[in-house]
Amino acid sequence: MNIDGAGQAAFFTSEANGNVRCHLCPHGCVIARGSAGKCNVRMNHDGVLYLTVWGRPAALQLNAIESMPLYHFLPGTETFCIGTAGCTMDCAFCNTSEIVSLLPNDLPFIPLDPEAVVTRARDNGCASISFAFNEPVACAEYMMAVSREAARTELKCVAFTNAFVSRPVIRDVFRDIHAANVGIKAFEVTMYRDFCKGRLDDVLRSTLELAELGLHLELTMAVIPGLNDSTRAMQAMAAWIRDSLGMDTPLHLVPFQPSHRLTTIRKPDTQSIDKLAATARNEGLRHVYGGTPDSAFCDTKCHKCGRVMIHRNGSTFMSIDVPASRKCPDCGTPLLMVDRRPS
Ligand code: SF4
Repeated sequence: MNIDGAGQAAFFTSEANGNVRCHLCPHGCVIARGSAGKCNVRMNHDGVLYLTVWGRPAALQLNAIESMPLYHFLPGTETFCIGTAGCTMDCAFCNTSEIVSLLPNDLPFIPLDPEAVVTRARDNGCASISFAFNEPVACAEYMMAVSREAARTELKCVAFTNAFVSRPVIRDVFRDIHAANVGIKAFEVTMYRDFCKGRLDDVLRSTLELAELGLHLELTMAVIPGLNDSTRAMQAMAAWIRDSLGMDTPLHLVPFQPSHRLTTIRKPDTQSIDKLAATARNEGLRHVYGGTPDSAFCDTKCHKCGRVMIHRNGSTFMSIDVPASRKCPDCGTPLLMVDRRPS
């Protein structure tokens, strides 16, 4: 096995027979010598676990933070997006499967150490670094090193994560991460089991833990007709968000893109996205967004008087009218939002 450039993993124990046990995600893989865990990017080399994509991003991109999506964190800024191979789940509808599912040795990468990532983000005028494209927990030690380096600067760090991560390691993995967008696949145990090879209860517990750590949190669900778009499931999900994370937690409902192993289901239209968004609003969520250009749920409004505070055309940022107090200019109601101004 070639482990050139790999970094030793942080969360594992070695066993007497040469196997290693990984503690990073709830799969808890037991990995024999020369083999990799389910995520494909953690390999047992002579009884030691290595992350084989450390410093080896396969995708780099500059994006508007709203397009990720993230609406209440550094609005109107650009983010430096980075991703490697590897994921802790296996979603049938993954729309970055060409990055996530390939074995690390089959995927072209750009060698980039943490200092170089930070330098590139700053040179490009970004306000943040986003760990996206693949599941950042799969390459946790690299994300930790980059975010630690970024913490020396003005840059913020964001994780776009499935939250399928073991609770005991969350504090270490997300120590220098300021915001997270958790991709909720469905509010159905069976959907997680059958289509994602993950577990909903683990995801919800870890999402709560991220909130308790004080990260700015937003949630996103790709709406898949017939699989996760029932009114009943949306009511249950919105009620859980309201009661567990708070009614100010932004929820993004974006259209599923037929891809990977799920190509026979049609993309949802704006009308069905907006109907679900209205359902979530009726359960008490204050900031629900539809991820289509013509959705009626694109702007950020004061939840009390309805004044538009951040105007968007689809997910494109257009203008912001939020004073430094982060209160509605008309009625004084506070808006949950993180920007560059001191709190
Ligand atoms: S991070 Fe990878 S190796 Fe570790 S338990 Fe999860 S899937 Fe297995």
